[in-house]
Amino acid sequence: MIGTVIIGAGPAGCAAAIALARAGQEVLLLERSPAPREVVCGEFLGVDAAAALAVLGLDPAALGGIPLRRVAVGHGARTAAAPLPFAAWGLSRLRLDGALQAAAGPALRRGVTVLGASPVPGGWRLRTSAGEVAARRVILASGKHGLRGFPRPASPWLGLKLHLDGVAAGDAVSLLPFAGGYAGLQPTQGEDGQGGANLCAAVRSRPAELLAAVAAGSALGARLLRHATPRWDRPLAVAGIPYGFRLAAGGPPGLYRIGDQASVIPSFTGEGMALALHSGLAAAAAILAGQEAADFHAAWRRRSAGPLRWAGLGAWALRLAPAGFAAAAGIAPLARLVARRTRLDLAA
Ligand SMILES: Cc1cc2nc3c(=O)[nH]c(=O)nc-3n(C[C@H](O)[C@H](O)[C@H](O)COP(=O)(O)OP(=O)(O)OC[C@H]3O[C@@H](n4cnc5c(N)ncnc54)[C@H](O)[C@@H]3O)c2cc1C
Repeated sequence: MIGTVIIGAGPAGCAAAIALARAGQEVLLLERSPAPREVVCGEFLGVDAAAALAVLGLDPAALGGIPLRRVAVGHGARTAAAPLPFAAWGLSRLRLDGALQAAAGPALRRGVTVLGASPVPGGWRLRTSAGEVAARRVILASGKHGLRGFPRPASPWLGLKLHLDGVAAGDAVSLLPFAGGYAGLQPTQGEDGQGGANLCAAVRSRPAELLAAVAAGSALGARLLRHATPRWDRPLAVAGIPYGFRLAAGGPPGLYRIGDQASVIPSFTGEGMALALHSGLAAAAAILAGQEAADFHAAWRRRSAGPLRWAGLGAWALRLAPAGFAAAAGIAPLARLVARRTRLDLAA
């Protein structure tokens, strides 16, 4: 029986795997995709995520992260901009996930899909596309993708991502509310370093034309997307994102849920990757300290409560704000407030 099997090699699963392996634990990290790939994500990486990456021996700048220094908000005819109140980078998920998976080393087994998990005496039995695996404990880090028997609430939110040429994104993350959703636009390294911009949106229903819908939402969106040409035939999509989800305390012994399986923070006003990385580190620390899964879940619920609440408020303001919201006088203090209140307690 293996010590710990981790399901999913996204930021959360990789963080847990690297930390456990470094502590000398026997760990197997199962990832269904045969190679790192593009995933729906705004690719905005802030200081909390960078702090977790530093623990794992990775540095966003060394990975080619593009420094972001400003936040701009478009709202109808108005545009407001302010300096970002903390260091941040635009870092392609292809690169980040690739670096994390490389750091996980021999613990990682790619191209294996976990189909189900059931408790057995002394641990868990996993049914996978490569046969059965027995483990004393399981970490469920499958992100947006559920595993049968471990449900999360249904949600109408859909995530879309499109790489673009012809956009001068500069050193800003631009927040672009539009009818039916909101988007983030920032520079990217591109799939193989060709640059460009990453447009990522959270919507309730798929617009017929993503670029046209975002451009119609604000003068800033229209200006940024004026010469945009999509690099892909259609946006990448992921459905049913349960924004605001926080796992209830409790759960069966020996099964730890982390990353988007434990909490889903609203995009663009909160940082899902930071939560994913830190929850992975926290789960590894809990296992090393002999803490049961139920106690770990209760502790993570407490730790993530403030960031989720404030990111939810920020997202609500971004979508529904009156036209005056984007007044230049308001954006800098608001960005500072949301940035401060969505920070994780790194000492926890
Ligand atoms: C629209 C949108 C924009 C976002 N923008 C940002 C942003 O700008 N900044 C930010 O910090 N966060 C952002 N996020 C959030 C961020 O993408 C997630 O919080 C983060 O990826 C969660 O990491 P994770 O490791 O929990 O899950 P994931 O990154 O989803 O990784 C899960 C892994 O598990 C694998 N897997 C799934 N099921 C199985 C299975 N059965 N067997 C084996 N492997 C499996 C998957 O292939 C995947 O590799 C955004 C999210 C959305 C939806």
